[in-house]
Amino acid sequence: MDNHFDLIAIGGGSGGLAVAEKAAAFGQRVAIIEPNKLGGTCVNVGCVPKKVMWYAANLAAGARDARDYGVLADLEGVDWKALVSGREGFIAGILDYWNGYVAGEGITLINGRARFVDARTVEVDGTRYTAEHIVVATGGRPVVPPVPGSELGITSDGFFQLQQQPKRVCVVGGGYIGVELAGVLRALGSEVTVVALEGRVLETFDPMVSETVAHNMAQEGIAMHLPFAVGSLERRDDGIAVIDRDGQALTGFDTVLWAVGRAPNTRELNLEAAGVEVQPNGIVPTDAYQNTNVPGIYALGDITGRAPLTPVAIAAGRRLAERLFDNQPERRLDYDNIPTVVFAHPPVGSVGMTEAQARDTGERVTVYQTQFQPMRYALNRHGPRTAMKLVCTGDNERVVGIHMVGDGVDEMLQGFAVAVKMGATKADFDNTVAIHPVSAEELVTLKEPNADE
Ligand SMILES: Cc1cc2nc3c(=O)[nH]c(=O)nc-3n(C[C@H](O)[C@H](O)[C@H](O)COP(=O)(O)OP(=O)(O)OC[C@H]3O[C@@H](n4cnc5c(N)ncnc54)[C@H](O)[C@@H]3O)c2cc1C
Repeated sequence: MDNHFDLIAIGGGSGGLAVAEKAAAFGQRVAIIEPNKLGGTCVNVGCVPKKVMWYAANLAAGARDARDYGVLADLEGVDWKALVSGREGFIAGILDYWNGYVAGEGITLINGRARFVDARTVEVDGTRYTAEHIVVATGGRPVVPPVPGSELGITSDGFFQLQQQPKRVCVVGGGYIGVELAGVLRALGSEVTVVALEGRVLETFDPMVSETVAHNMAQEGIAMHLPFAVGSLERRDDGIAVIDRDGQALTGFDTVLWAVGRAPNTRELNLEAAGVEVQPNGIVPTDAYQNTNVPGIYALGDITGRAPLTPVAIAAGRRLAERLFDNQPERRLDYDNIPTVVFAHPPVGSVGMTEAQARDTGERVTVYQTQFQPMRYALNRHGPRTAMKLVCTGDNERVVGIHMVGDGVDEMLQGFAVAVKMGATKADFDNTVAIHPVSAEELVTLKEPNADE
């Protein structure tokens, strides 16, 4: 086999696959190096299995609400094994697609872990491969903090291996993965406690989002201890105990789930051999064009530490291939205004600046917000809180941030993100006729801004 390629992608996840398929479409000789299944985190232990679990959780919640609407359904329970087996079957179908696609495009799939030998050469299990262009897209892995007893906990990877439903779970971490998995488990009937270092869940989001999500989680019956710095885990007679640094213990859990962040997969790559700069935390810095400090070596996706989301990795990969092989020297991903969703119950949708970030710009800021009970819960005694916020700057009130919590905001956000990206103003929102009766109409009928200071 000729071991020289135009482009090698190290990692066959969202970013690696995207750059490889585009480069191959431009007629390049391409290889992907991947030790595990194609599709990476998103397909195997991330977005896809998580969203299947979220749908299951929504169905369970709907079944609980059904009788209030006169629909004679009861939630008898959850067949966890059937759910997991259906989910894994769905993922197997995606993997079949990718394996067939890669082979069909003439992309060489090398099974194993890559290590740099020099700036043009990588080695996999003793065989060397060279390329003009090498893309590092090895993503990240869940962090387990080095506290005594940490091995008693599982991570999100372990969550997707659970063959039976946990009964009493402690989720450590209030970021998006912690919030999502806590919500899924609770809706499916587990008892759930969330602890986190921070004083509020979803700390990087606008505080309105954190407050609304915390309210909804508490209403769903999720116990929350914030802030709570886990110092150790201990196995006791009644289950696993989660103990904070002052000795306060929460006890009786059958499952503890670490959701305390992700670390880049840089350790094994031997990037020093190629002279590639790596930050102490393992992140590989790049410029706006995904270039590392070494010509011909690029990085994209989670390993770059920027907006760790699948569509970001894909978009960066595709644009890099277009820049390198399609005569588009300025092609690159614009990292501004990337919309993001947290699949909480109900979900969160957010794009652009938080109110605090907008105020930091020094421009005049106007904020419009609302909080309401959507019609979906008209016949239910309890429903989650829905909240929406528009952050505008300047005298023309350009909309620079949209933050929402509520049913449907996951689907709602994409179109509104287009408007933000295009520079829409509050007047443009006002000039758009509402759709009725939907929650989204609130976004184009917001009145009475909060006073600016
Ligand atoms: C629980 C969870 C839920 C998520 N939900 C969402 C969501 O809803 N929406 C969203 O947009 N994002 C979500 N994400 C994030 C998303 O999965 C990542 O942003 C995305 O997968 C990053 O793509 P990537 O190409 O950078 O890395 P990955 O997809 O992680 O791919 C990296 C690949 O590199 C391989 N690799 C590692 N080391 C080597 C080596 N030495 N040699 C060769 N290959 C190597 C790995 O095996 C892996 O397949 C979620 C993540 C998690 C963990």
